Amino acid sequence: MNKKACDINEQSTWQELTVGCEIYEGGTSVLRKTGEWRSKIPSWDPAKCKQCLLCTPFCPDSSIPVTDGKRGDFDFEHCKGCGICFKICPFKAIDWKEVQ
Ligand code: SF4
Ligand code: SF4
Repeated sequence: MNKKACDINEQSTWQELTVGCEIYEGGTSVLRKTGEWRSKIPSWDPAKCKQCLLCTPFCPDSSIPVTDGKRGDFDFEHCKGCGICFKICPFKAIDWKEVQ
């Protein structure tokens, strides 16, 4: 019998995996550190940032945290390095480079 994706770990056997390793539950990015998939990485320059918050809703992985109306540094455990925030920032406060 297949386990839920959240119950799979390094000790799981292939028989416990879903067909095609498909994930059926919602909210799985909370359980998986999708930042490990990244081949490019954004960096944020707080000195250039005007706190317009335009980047936040464009991030498909909700990896730009906002606290008390101000953005903070990236959630690198979940940022997949897509570069959308880099493209969208009107103040060039975000850079985007290859992961070293
Ligand atoms: S879009 Fe650019 S200036 Fe606006 S909050 Fe994001 S990093 Fe800061
Ligand atoms: S690179 Fe993509 S996933 Fe990472 S913070 Fe920017 S928009 Fe979000």
